[in-house]
Amino acid sequence: MSETIRLRGIPASPGIAIAKARVVDRRRIRIPKQRISQAEARGEVDRFMRAVDEARTQLEAARAAIGDRGPAQGDHSLILQAHLLMLEDEMMIDGAAAVIARDLVNAEWALSRKMDEIKGILAGLGDAYFKERSEDVDFVGNRVLRNLLGEAEDLLKIDIEDACILVVAQLCPGEVAQMADRRVEGFAIGTGTRTSHVSIMLQALGIPSVVGISLMADRVESGDVVIVDGIEGQVIIRPDEGTVRDYEERRLGFALAEQDLLAGRDEPAVTEDGVAIALYANIELPAEAALCPDYGAEGIGLYRTEFLYLDRALPPDENEQQRTYRAVIETLAPRPVIFRTFDLGADKLPGERESSEANPALGLRAIRLGLKNRTMFKAQLRAMLRAAHGRELRVMFPMVSGLGELRQVNALLEESRLEVGSAGPAAIRVGCMIELPSAVLVAHALAREVDFFSIGTNDLIQYSLGIDRANDQVAYLYTPLHPAILRSIRMVVEAGEIAGIPVSMCGGMAAEPLLIPLLIGLGLRSLSMTPMWIPAVKRSVRAANAGSCLGLARQALAMGTSVEIEDLVHRHAEQA
Ligand code: PEP
Ligand code: MG
Repeated sequence: MSETIRLRGIPASPGIAIAKARVVDRRRIRIPKQRISQAEARGEVDRFMRAVDEARTQLEAARAAIGDRGPAQGDHSLILQAHLLMLEDEMMIDGAAAVIARDLVNAEWALSRKMDEIKGILAGLGDAYFKERSEDVDFVGNRVLRNLLGEAEDLLKIDIEDACILVVAQLCPGEVAQMADRRVEGFAIGTGTRTSHVSIMLQALGIPSVVGISLMADRVESGDVVIVDGIEGQVIIRPDEGTVRDYEERRLGFALAEQDLLAGRDEPAVTEDGVAIALYANIELPAEAALCPDYGAEGIGLYRTEFLYLDRALPPDENEQQRTYRAVIETLAPRPVIFRTFDLGADKLPGERESSEANPALGLRAIRLGLKNRTMFKAQLRAMLRAAHGRELRVMFPMVSGLGELRQVNALLEESRLEVGSAGPAAIRVGCMIELPSAVLVAHALAREVDFFSIGTNDLIQYSLGIDRANDQVAYLYTPLHPAILRSIRMVVEAGEIAGIPVSMCGGMAAEPLLIPLLIGLGLRSLSMTPMWIPAVKRSVRAANAGSCLGLARQALAMGTSVEIEDLVHRHAEQA
């Protein structure tokens, strides 16, 4: 293959990367069943144990390689530690060796039978959390299987010596975290959208990426030069010299523009007519906390705590959580931190895990999972309460559908508060995320029972417009400028105003500089976003006039289609 190919995708994380491709083939593993003789059994067990040792060496090497490059090295290390422990598991490893010797079958078959057996036991515990853990059995077991079969690549095993663009059909957020310390300059991923959690993670790590490019893997080979344009959402395979030069210039331009924006870090986020807009950061990994002030964040408006649970065999225990949360609070102090209770489920399942639910986005996720797994949920609440000892705890609940559910989680928070007693915080402020249409419609009632609202537009758009936020096939329909979304935002702001509670926005819509005047006009005074967007959003705030923003919002609310509204927003920006 030699001709240049340009593929359009979805810009997931801004920036430009130029490097050689590393194509990762992740086809499913096929397990052959073979009978062996009694005489071969010993050799087969040895072959199996060598594959286990190899897996241990791979995981240990990955752990050792975690230096200070990625922001999340502590988390990676813990994940890998949990996986390493699984390689010592009596039931899985010794059990598989026993099956080889007893049933005279090949190692692959024996191991896959043991994996199925363990997963069956975990599923039988009737607890969604343990069901999910069975996916870790897959993660570790598949690593050993791949070593045995010597086929289908997996990410940890691949050698990345030189800077590369990772080309892969599918990734999960936990795997992205694991790749942070490798020399991956850019990602080109077959599936995903701008607001899928993989993209959120890639933005947090600042790695230029394009997602949602189907039919890509067959058109690129490892070693081909690839350009990832995470600004326009393009992947250029085997570019000619002129194109490479052009993109090198663009890359430089992007870096200079970033520096320029960062120079305004300490300027106040105030409109030209004096209205202050608080700008906060969204973080996924504790290690990101330290970077937030560098971007000018006034605090953390959304800490997605569920990332602490991903890609590990056991949930973080209460003490580990408390230490992690405390460290985040202390890093940011005196700036506030809003903890979001875990929003596990939906697309936040690691790697080759597949949800057993037909519609996971509508299934057992977020507080629904917490209400079903109260032990796990309360452990998290207590960890947060203790982490904020002597200070104010700000905590918010994701995916609240109505008052009944809010009261249930509030009751668990109160129970947890009583349990921690004097080890708890000096004060608590409770927030409710508004990310379901039902929550918008009953916002007036919810507002009376919480201290603040935070609008999660990523989900609100998904559920209001009926568009899977992680499905690139329907991504063209996913727009924050649909009249229904603008009306929803206005309704929530009004409900907040009537109850006298602040309303913030922490979904991706808050990170779009072009939309800032509209959001100010709709009445928002606090926005939270991936830290790297703060400087550009601040520039938009400083260029805006709250009076004219109000006129803009009124006009937009009177319009019937997103196309008209988009046009209006562009015209407003040009005039400004
Ligand atoms: C949202 O839905 O807008 C949000 C901020 O939460 P998440 O992206 O984690 O679902
Ligand atoms: Mg959400």
